[in-house]
Amino acid sequence: LKRRVVKAEKMEVVSHLASSISHEVRNPLAVVKGFLQLMDKTELPREKQREFINLSINEINRANDIIKNYLTFAKPALENVRMVDIKEELQTTIEMITPLANMNCVAIESRLDTYMINGDPQLLQQSFLNITKNCIEAMPNSGRLIINTLQGDNEVVVKIADNGKGMSEQQLARIGEPYFTTKGREGTGLGMMVVFQIIEMLKGKITVTSKLDEGTTFLIRFPLANLGRKVPSTQE
Ligand code: ADP
Ligand code: MG
Repeated sequence: LKRRVVKAEKMEVVSHLASSISHEVRNPLAVVKGFLQLMDKTELPREKQREFINLSINEINRANDIIKNYLTFAKPALENVRMVDIKEELQTTIEMITPLANMNCVAIESRLDTYMINGDPQLLQQSFLNITKNCIEAMPNSGRLIINTLQGDNEVVVKIADNGKGMSEQQLARIGEPYFTTKGREGTGLGMMVVFQIIEMLKGKITVTSKLDEGTTFLIRFPLANLGRKVPSTQE
């Protein structure tokens, strides 16, 4: 069993990345443009047309994946940091991933309590989404996804765990590295990099524990705001 605390150096790579992301998106767009031009110039048999259309759709999906993983960095960072209830952000995430979980026969088990932290709802949701999506993808034929909040010392601990494929030591050492993926063309290798970046920005900490063929556990800690209690003015 290997445990890993993510270090700050890895984050520095990220700042150089915005430009390469736009490059990453331009590639698939150029491919699609090429196919369209080709189909415009020449009379192609229906079979060939279909092949080019399918390839184009794949490329568009790829561009879409890259944008989805990287979405948060299109906006100025930390613009919307305020007191948020982590329970609400996790509930929203669960709603978003339930269809994918159902498709993979993954049962979501959550025990959530209210804890107030300083965060940006969109950034939090993006990071929980990227983590839970990976967990579900690691359990293609059923499994359990656990999402709990736990009381720490002046902090809340969010535990997200799966009983899926897990990672080897080598894989675990590379998680969050830009473009590191074991999913081939299906992966972007950007999801966890974005997660580490967001959690660092929000003054949180993340540890990842994993064992091959047993599963993976993410522990994410955030300092509590307001002793973790809701302010009286908050309605509910
Ligand atoms: P992507 O999902 O596009 O591959 P990520 O940055 O989200 O990129 O993840 C990088 C890699 O880390 C994945 O390809 C996978 O090998 C590994 N990984 C991440 N989360 C898990 C998990 N819950 N279980 C097993 N492997 C994981
Ligand atoms: Mg991913």
